[in-house]
Amino acid sequence: MKKAQMVIETSLRAGGTDPIFRIAGEAANRTKELGPEAVINSTIGALMDDDGELVTFKSVYDTLKGLPNHLIADYSGLAGQPDFLEKITEACFKNCKPEGYIRAVATPGGTGAVRHSFCNYTELGDTILLTDWYWAAYATIADENHRKVTTFPLYNEAGGFNLEGWKKSILELLEKQQRVLTVLNTPAHNPTGYTISLEEWKAIKTFVTETATAQPESKIILLVDLAYIDFAGEGDEARQFMKMLTGMPHNILTLYAFSCSKGYTMYGLRNGAILCVAPTAEIADEFANACTYSNRGNWSNGTRGAMETITKIFSNDELYNQAMAEQSFYKSILRRRAAAFVEEANKIGLKMVTYCDGFFISIPCDKPQEVSSRLMENNTFVVALGKGLRFAPCAVSEEKCRRSPQLILDAIKEV
Ligand code: PLP
Repeated sequence: MKKAQMVIETSLRAGGTDPIFRIAGEAANRTKELGPEAVINSTIGALMDDDGELVTFKSVYDTLKGLPNHLIADYSGLAGQPDFLEKITEACFKNCKPEGYIRAVATPGGTGAVRHSFCNYTELGDTILLTDWYWAAYATIADENHRKVTTFPLYNEAGGFNLEGWKKSILELLEKQQRVLTVLNTPAHNPTGYTISLEEWKAIKTFVTETATAQPESKIILLVDLAYIDFAGEGDEARQFMKMLTGMPHNILTLYAFSCSKGYTMYGLRNGAILCVAPTAEIADEFANACTYSNRGNWSNGTRGAMETITKIFSNDELYNQAMAEQSFYKSILRRRAAAFVEEANKIGLKMVTYCDGFFISIPCDKPQEVSSRLMENNTFVVALGKGLRFAPCAVSEEKCRRSPQLILDAIKEV
């Protein structure tokens, strides 16, 4: 008998296939069965303390819970509350605000910002350029919105940004569709932890400037996904490139996807923004109008209480300093964990791709699915990706980070 199908052909989806959620569920079951000490659960993409509890900033939650009910419950403006937009712009650029016409539109997390950039800056059916190691949701967001993705190898032979590969892909896509949107998830890329250096940014800027000048009909959109920026570099180090990404031809636009999920532990509160640094007021207005309209047509408006919380934190020095102290406390824990993993991996010869900062470290290997399954037999849960494994120091104690490389190396050898 023919299978019943009510959804349209393009909405037909296989259920329960998200590999990360599936393995995370198994890790949780094993932890219940054997206790947290016996299990290494590196499947979670959130900062966890050494006891496996989600880290939450006191400054954020005291502020949120201290808000009057109406400021939690109310709708926000379609583009986001004006004072929030001002403060989220500060949170994004800090002391590295570039010259140019800057506008922000609130979105439910960085995901919303990615969605708005894909839908407003590429045509239906266009191909979006990603690195070959990439956050899987980009492909889902593109597919859901009838766009395609293609990739270029993130690394060159020296383990740096593969500028040549990226340039080649940009030119090919421009030839085909006269418009290209490239996602650069930096600093502290998911899943590798790679950060594009200032030198590499300079070369990126030179190339887009030359290309956009030579092809005045073309349009180049740089979407910089900042989801992990507040766990990268010291002070404003990780933001230095922002000051440079301006003063380019008018057919280049820089967009930033800013998320409060990791940097302010607001994951489920769905808070973030899409920002533009535009070369003209017209292009900035066009951006704000398009993204505000997209808000209305998708989720109407964002989470008011989450916006008010960020506004309060950025309006009060004491609160702000408290939030920054919490960020920096957990950043140093994350750094110690990652350093323990990297040190041990280097000692025993476990190959990793270049890691700079952030929540994840990637291990290239053949048959990642089989290696991940083998590790599970040892109560070690590591996410299998297309090109290898993703280990998450954000979710695993320093002691377990030190133990994990040997377990991973053994599993790779056994498979
Ligand atoms: N970009 C990357 C690379 C991510 O890993 C994430 C979250 O995991 C996001 C963006 C956006 O997250 P959210 O929508 O929770 O802000």
